[in-house]
Amino acid sequence: TDRNPLDISKLTKELRAGNRAALARAITLIESRRGDHQAAARNLVQALLPDTGKAIRVGITGSPGVGKSTTIDALGMFLIERGHKVAVLAVDPSSARTGGSILGDKTRMARLSASDNAYIRPSPASGTLGGVAAKTREGMLLCEAAGFDVVLVETVGIGQSETAVCDMTDFFLALMLPGAGDELQGIKKGLVELADMIAVNKADGDNIKRANAAAGEYRSALHILSARSEHWHPPVVTYSALTGTGIAELWHKILDHRTAMNASGDFAARRRQQQVKWMWSMLEQRMMARLRADPAIRAKVKKTETEVADGRIAPAVAAEQIAEMLK
Ligand code: GDP
Repeated sequence: TDRNPLDISKLTKELRAGNRAALARAITLIESRRGDHQAAARNLVQALLPDTGKAIRVGITGSPGVGKSTTIDALGMFLIERGHKVAVLAVDPSSARTGGSILGDKTRMARLSASDNAYIRPSPASGTLGGVAAKTREGMLLCEAAGFDVVLVETVGIGQSETAVCDMTDFFLALMLPGAGDELQGIKKGLVELADMIAVNKADGDNIKRANAAAGEYRSALHILSARSEHWHPPVVTYSALTGTGIAELWHKILDHRTAMNASGDFAARRRQQQVKWMWSMLEQRMMARLRADPAIRAKVKKTETEVADGRIAPAVAAEQIAEMLK
C-alpha cells in the first residue's frame, strides 16, 4: 500500500490505537537518516510525548549464551498472561558492522514473536553507540504511546552499551551463568554500579547447586561494594528461563524496586535526570554531525588537525577556531 510516512497526524492516531504496523513504520521513520524524515520523527515524538513514560522500562544484559532471549521469551509470556503488553528493543552497536542484529531477533523468541501483545524490534543499524541509543530511546517512547506497558531493552557486553541501556531504563538486570569464576569479573568491571539485580539463570537440573553457589558469591561480592541507592540493595536471585522456575519472583523484585523507588522519590528523579541526559547526548551528536556534514567545516577540521599534529597550532586555539565556525 502507498502510505505517506510523513503523514504524522494519521500515524499518531494509528499509533495511539496500538496498531503494530504503524508502530513499525514510526520506528523506521525515527531510524531514517533523511532530513525530512528526521524532522517528521521529531514532530511525531513531540506529539506523542503526553502518551509516553508509563511503561516499566527494564534493561537486560548478559554475555552471549547466558539466556537473554530465552529469558525475555519466558518473562514476556509471563507478563502477557497477566494482561501486559510487552515491547522488546535492543541496543547493539556492533550490528552495523556484523551486518545483522543477533539481539531482538524474532526467531530467538518464538512464543513472544507469535503473540499479538508483543512487539519485537532489533537494534537500529546505525554506526555509533550514541546514535543507536538515541534511536532506541525514541523507539521506546513510541512503544509506550502504542500502549506497551512493559519495555524490555536488551544489550550485550560490558561497558558503553550497558551504560546506555541503564540510562534509558528504570531497572537494570544483569544475567549470569551458574559457576561464577569468570563471570565475577563482570562485577569488578563496574557492572555492579549499574545492576539493580543479578539473576543467575539455568538453575535447573544438575545446575541448581552451581547456580546457588554462584548466587552466594555474587551476594558476598555485592556486599563489599557500596549500593547505588540507599533505598535499594541489589538482590541476587536464581531462576530458570527454560522451566520458568523463579520467573515470577524475578518480576516481583522488579515491582518491589519500583515501589521502593517511588516511595523515596528516586524514581521520578531518575527519569528526570535521564531526560536531561538524553537531550545533551542528542545535542552532542548533532554538533558532531554538523562537523562532519558541512564541507567547509570538514575541510577546516582536516587542515587544523594536521596543524595541531605538527605542533603549529595549540589544541585550544584549534578548538576555538572550529567552534567559531559552528556559530
Ligand atoms: P542469549 O545468547 O543470551 O540470548 O542466550 P539464549 O537465550 O539464546 O540461550 C543460550 C542457550 O542456553 C540456549 O541453548 C538455551 O536453550 C539455553 N538456555 C537458556 N536458558 C536456559 C535455562 O534456564 N536452563 C537451561 N538449562 N538452558 C537454558
